[in-house]
Amino acid sequence: MQQTAYLDSNATSRPAPEVVDAVAQMLTEDWANPSSVHRFGQRARQRVELAREQVCKLINCRTRELIFTSGATESNNLALRGILAARPNQRTIITTRLEHSAVREPCAHFAEVHDYNVIYLPVSLDGLIDLDALAETLDKHEGDVALVAIHWINNETGVIQPVDAIGDLCRRHGVLFFSDATQAIGKVPCDLSELPFSAMSFSAHKFHGPKGAGGLYVRRGTPLIPQTLGGPHERERRGGTENTPGIVGLGFAAELADRFLQTDGPSIGAARRDRLEAAIIEAVPDAVVNSAGAPRLWNTTNIGFAPLTSEAILLMLSEKGISAAAGAACSSGSLEPSPVLLAQGIAEPVAHGSIRLSLSRYTTDEEIDYAIATIPPAVARLRASMPAV
Ligand code: PMP
Repeated sequence: MQQTAYLDSNATSRPAPEVVDAVAQMLTEDWANPSSVHRFGQRARQRVELAREQVCKLINCRTRELIFTSGATESNNLALRGILAARPNQRTIITTRLEHSAVREPCAHFAEVHDYNVIYLPVSLDGLIDLDALAETLDKHEGDVALVAIHWINNETGVIQPVDAIGDLCRRHGVLFFSDATQAIGKVPCDLSELPFSAMSFSAHKFHGPKGAGGLYVRRGTPLIPQTLGGPHERERRGGTENTPGIVGLGFAAELADRFLQTDGPSIGAARRDRLEAAIIEAVPDAVVNSAGAPRLWNTTNIGFAPLTSEAILLMLSEKGISAAAGAACSSGSLEPSPVLLAQGIAEPVAHGSIRLSLSRYTTDEEIDYAIATIPPAVARLRASMPAV
């Protein structure tokens, strides 16, 4: 059988076996509607509320502060649309060009269709936001800022933004701070009693849960106008019969992640990532690690192999059983270099030839060995086959 290495865990992660069992059980046994008054329905309700407790324990918030959604795209839309609708007189949004499309596109929509003033903060070559620029922008637009929307951890580079410092500035200016934490939750500890978010989104399938389930944390007191009107579900903030298998799977994934984060699992994962990264950099001339100087999530590396294109590399790796990515999964297939890397000021030939390798707690040493044995010769072969300039 062909050897393989799954190194695309930021796109989606393998569902944990315990999650698969829990989802199957909800589909085969506890499949009643949790809003039904009969006992069968109430058992499903109990499962949903247990999952809520599991998730709230992972992120340390109150159960009434959590809204179950269909994933981070919906959570991001609900947070942005819901908060802006509640603040109709404030017309400025402060964000970055490093956001996932599920934040970037709603912000662009608010600029184009609703005439919002959307300000994109400058970022360093390593992909960290400029805190001085944020302070100046908050000063300059005092009273008009509806929202600061800055993600916690970048899906392409793994860069960890200084969310505490961002939050301090927001608090000083009385401005709400929404963060897309999709790549953080389940991978780094999250204590919402300490973190400065007014709202925060996440998705189960990024930490070994099922697809189509996620959440939006909304801090008590944060104004939010519901965007999906229907039944009184989720305390009247998101109508629609609950996705009970997805929610229960999310709950189990949260409990497993909570346990994982209390072990040395993340540092073992970091050692694997570091070994992979170092071996590639040593073996491939002129390979560069993007954002190497910034604090980064333990599971991610993003490496540029100019003058190749990422598509050529990914296709060749795919043939050899290695799953990797360039940019966000949602935009792969496009021939454009990653807008995130370009926004950081990374040179176009490097951005064009950059790939992301992302690990998970299930990644094995054998997969890393195989990637180390495969990627450098693949790059060398592609470079050798390029026409001389
Ligand atoms: N935000 C970030 C940072 C992501 O990485 C992703 C998934 N690529 C999303 C949002 C969208 O999540 P979902 O697939 O749950 O809609």
